[in-house]
Amino acid sequence: MVSRVIPVDPFDLVIFGGTGDLARRKILPGLYRRHLDGQMPDDARIIGAARGDMDTDGYRTFVESAVREFVSKKKCNPKVLKSFLERLRFVQLDATGKQGWTDLKDVVRQDIVQAFYFSVGPSLFGPIAERLHTHGIAGPTARIVVEKPFGHDEASARALNASLAKHFDEYQIYRIDHYLGKETVQNLMALRFGNMLFEPLWNAQYVDHIQITVAETVGVEGRGSYYDKSGAMRDMVQNHLMQLLCLTAMEPPSKFEPNAVRDEKLKIIRALDPVATDDIVRGQYRGNDDVASYLEDAETGASTTESFVAMKLQISNWRWNGTPFYLRTGKRMRGRMSEIVVRFKEPPHSIFDEDTGQSANELSIRLQPNEGMDLKVTIKEPGLGGMRLIDVPLDMTFADALGEEAADAPDAYERLIMDVIRGNQTLFMRGDEVEAAWAWTDPIIAGWQDRGDKPKLYDPFSTGPEEALMLLHKDGRRWREIRE
Ligand code: NAP
Repeated sequence: MVSRVIPVDPFDLVIFGGTGDLARRKILPGLYRRHLDGQMPDDARIIGAARGDMDTDGYRTFVESAVREFVSKKKCNPKVLKSFLERLRFVQLDATGKQGWTDLKDVVRQDIVQAFYFSVGPSLFGPIAERLHTHGIAGPTARIVVEKPFGHDEASARALNASLAKHFDEYQIYRIDHYLGKETVQNLMALRFGNMLFEPLWNAQYVDHIQITVAETVGVEGRGSYYDKSGAMRDMVQNHLMQLLCLTAMEPPSKFEPNAVRDEKLKIIRALDPVATDDIVRGQYRGNDDVASYLEDAETGASTTESFVAMKLQISNWRWNGTPFYLRTGKRMRGRMSEIVVRFKEPPHSIFDEDTGQSANELSIRLQPNEGMDLKVTIKEPGLGGMRLIDVPLDMTFADALGEEAADAPDAYERLIMDVIRGNQTLFMRGDEVEAAWAWTDPIIAGWQDRGDKPKLYDPFSTGPEEALMLLHKDGRRWREIRE
């Protein structure tokens, strides 16, 4: 397969929080890989900014160790790494103070693409936006990239949008949801809108139900104090699962272009019915001999924050009327697995004997592990003995089907950062989308608080609370297995 790395225009990328965990683990190693692939022009620079006492040499040493730790050995070429480090600068500044801003102005060039990555907590978004403006650092086409969490409810998301909108237009704001940068998520769109095979069946007439699972084996561990204020609903459902739901359920956009796609996603969020109390299950993991419980991890004593949530959703529009969407996400689950499963209806009439084993087609789109898709189809069991039917997967694991290049595909962050440099917002959330997602989420959380709802406990490395299984059992359905 021919590699098609298209170089981007020269740029200055400033990473506020350039010494933080996200920069170290994802952003900087990702940028190194783009450099290695030849996607960065000679004149592209990366400028770390933070309060810590550091200079450019110190920052280069910091970034070198990040690259060595988080990029595979195979890709850590010393010569390439040296040339990557030459792109780096460091500016010491305080996002909420006066220190460092004139230095930053002296470093950032005006006549090229400017991107400012806010890899800091959301309370710093407004102050940074303001200072970029008042110090005349950001030009009229500058882009800013903001990280999740984008607010903790609708009101705070609106306030954040308003604080950014004072200094930047919507076309300059890139709200990251790294799930949208995953190869398979974009493949979902290629599958739906680049083929004739699926879209005619992609509706309530032919689809029995859809499941979206994002399961993790890790607990909250070091993130306890942040997570406990958030919980699975705010941390995962409002953003990642909602985005996956939108891309699965939306109408075909007229073009693969930012506002066309985001308009269709927004329509789905607005068409979601409120969730009935018994259509949602919250859970919290117990501990065992090997791992701590949620309460021990969060170090909060008697927290009622959920580390698991499962729910049944209905979308009130023509396409999906009567087809439920089941969503679940949790920590300390049996396996690390993210997938979207479209379960089709059974054929309306069977010409085979009842005990031949016929069942429904199932299309599963795996985000992790082993990004890929498989389609379960029914065939005749080979051999003699009459017509017996079995299900076989038509499996397309990208790494198997497309070779090394698919296995080495850029990760979500690197793809999204290159989209920022190109000025393509298709895979970023628009402000009204984020607000609408919170407007749908808020009443659910408020209901839990009003009722004093306590999460159901579940065993670590299980499939979550029993009640989550019942959510589908009572509809005569069952969840796809979470593989270890
Ligand atoms: P972190 O490890 O705490 O790093 C924060 C960074 O911000 C450091 O470089 C820190 O350096 C800098 N900083 C803090 N206060 C500052 C100020 N007043 N002025 C200038 N710089 C300041 O945080 P993180 O984990 O990298 O997360 C960054 C953002 O990404 C957060 O919003 C987080 O929610 C989000 N996020 C993180 C992850 C992840 O995997 N880590 C995943 C998704 C989203 P100094 O203290 O030296 O200033």
